[in-house]
Amino acid sequence: MTEEILEKTCSTCGETKPVSKFHKRKVSKDGYRGQCIKCKQLSDHSYNCERRDQRVRSQRVGILRRCKVCGVTKDLSQFRKRGDAIYGHAYKCKECSTKIEWENYKAKFEK
Ligand SMILES: [Zn+2]
Ligand SMILES: [Zn+2]
Repeated sequence: MTEEILEKTCSTCGETKPVSKFHKRKVSKDGYRGQCIKCKQLSDHSYNCERRDQRVRSQRVGILRRCKVCGVTKDLSQFRKRGDAIYGHAYKCKECSTKIEWENYKAKFEK
């Protein structure tokens, strides 16, 4: 037979609280969640915060840099690595570098 419980000890904070402080859960033996509403909310909250942090962090990965030739702000990956340049990257984007190199190359032959 099922015994009706009035109080329950939370598995997270260890406090004994009236069952009204617990979410109902049919699959549980006693019909309530092991975690009280407060702890459930806290864990949901920290879970959401963690996810938000991860999102923010992944957004921060993309460092933007302005190309001095075309003036377009592009991701740092669009710039060539250069040991002598500030931040270790060339001031012009890969696209502009290629264009300039190609023009220099052409100019040699046009002479
Ligand atoms: Zn609790
Ligand atoms: Zn450029």
